[in-house]
This record gives sequence, C-alpha cells and structure tokens, in this order.
Amino acid sequence: MNFTVLTLFPEFVSAFFDHGMILRGIEKGLITGACINIRDFAQDRHKTVDDKPYGGGSGMIMKPETLQAAIVHAKKNQPESKVLLMSPQGTPFNQEKAGDMASKKQGLIFVCGRYEGIDERICTSLIDEEISIGDYVLTGGELAAMTLIDSIARLIPGVLGSCESSKSDSFSGHRLEYAQYTRPEVFEDMEVPQILLSGNHEKIRYWRKKSALQRTFLKRPDLFDKTSPGDEEKQILKQWCRELEKIVRE
Ligand code: SAM
Repeated sequence: MNFTVLTLFPEFVSAFFDHGMILRGIEKGLITGACINIRDFAQDRHKTVDDKPYGGGSGMIMKPETLQAAIVHAKKNQPESKVLLMSPQGTPFNQEKAGDMASKKQGLIFVCGRYEGIDERICTSLIDEEISIGDYVLTGGELAAMTLIDSIARLIPGVLGSCESSKSDSFSGHRLEYAQYTRPEVFEDMEVPQILLSGNHEKIRYWRKKSALQRTFLKRPDLFDKTSPGDEEKQILKQWCRELEKIVRE
C-alpha cells in the first residue's frame, strides 16, 4: 500500500517513515512511504505557496496552482490512489475507517494544509475525501497524515511483528482492550491478578473479556451503542452486577 504525503515540511514526515513499525513495513515491502514538497511546484522564482485571502481577513491561504501541480504529479505515478485532505472540517477518523482503508489497500495521497488552509477550488476539484483527526485545530496537516498512516499501516497483515497483534486492540469490535501486566509480579505492593499466572487459557480468556467489558463500561460506555453486548458479554455483565450488589450490601 502506497502512502504519499504532500507537505511544505517533507523532513518532518520523512523522519516518521524512517522509524519503528513504519520503517519495518517499508523494509518488508508491504508499504511505501514518500514525501512530496509542495514548494517544488511553486510557479514563481520566489517559490511562493500562499497568498492573502480574497475578502480580507487574517492569515494566508495555500495557492491553488501549486497544490494542483503537486497533486497531479503525485497521481501520475499512482492514478488509482485516493486523495485525502487533512482538515478539521473533515469526516472524523476512527479505528473503523483505519480498518476500511487498510483492507482496500488503495494507495493514499495526503494533502497537508498550513496557514489558514487551502483554496476551496482544490477541495472541490481534486480532493476525494476530507478527514479530521478530532475537534481541535492543528497548525498543519502533517501530524494528522502521520496519525492516519500509523493507524492504517499497523492493520496491514505482516506490518506488526509476530509478537504484536492488533486483534485485541482497543476499538476492535467497539470495545476497549483489557488490562495488561508485565514483570515484576508485585510492584509497589500491587499484585498481578493471580488468574494471569495460572496458565489456564480459558480462565485467562474469560478474565480478559471481563476486564475489557468493565473498562469499556467505565471509560467509554458510548461504545455499547455501536455494538450491543453479545450473549457471553451479557452474562459477564450480569455476573459483575451481582458482584457489585454484594459489595453494596456488605
Ligand atoms: N482555518 C482552518 C479552519 O478553521 O478550518 C484551519 C487551518 S489549520 C490552522 C491548517 C491546516 O492544518 C489545515 O489546512 C489542515 O490541513 C490541518 N489541520 C488542522 N486541524 C486538523 C484536524 N483536526 N484534522 C486534520 N487536519 C487538521
């Protein structure tokens, strides 16, 4: 799967392609990562990429000719790729969207805005989808593009190492992940739950399911609206209610 980032700060993004899991995915030939400097497509000798907004107001707007030339260049090498504009006004990004994009394996071209954003005519003519990473405003789209690439790439089979897995990650099946522990067995008087040391796989599976449900219920109850509890989950939640009632009565 090809990831191409159109940015005014290519060094910022290429450092991201040079590290960790992303680098491993690139080395294994499962993904590619490229940066295109939008400034290289500026059409005057001063390499101007922005201009004042029509109608007045503060800040600068990224010029359409430069962006168009950069997008056309990126698409020339991969015409099937989808062009995504990073924008606080876009569709909110989530794990489900990451999963969809990873499974389609369609190349992605990320347009990173700066300043007050980009000329609207680029949005209407060359952008396939606008994506937001949350209801806050960043100074540029680079962090958003890297957020998307990171979360999509780790869902591509083989990108994560054999000892890592995305299957039980938070948000898969609209649940948070269970509590995790590592050595030592006792830390600052706090013990690892004994079941996790038992070697009994079924009991460990059940304990983890219960932990995941409890955490989802306490931290993100809204996730139950997306997928209501299945039979085993209902049984675990009822059992938890009985345990809580017992504590309340005591
Ligand atoms: N004036 C714009 C507005 O109010 O909608 C915000 C422009 S912002 C300062 C500059 C660039 O950062 C945007 O063009 C976009 O590429 C990126 N950006 C900012 N917040 C973002 C978010 N929440 N998600 C994705 N991209 C974002």
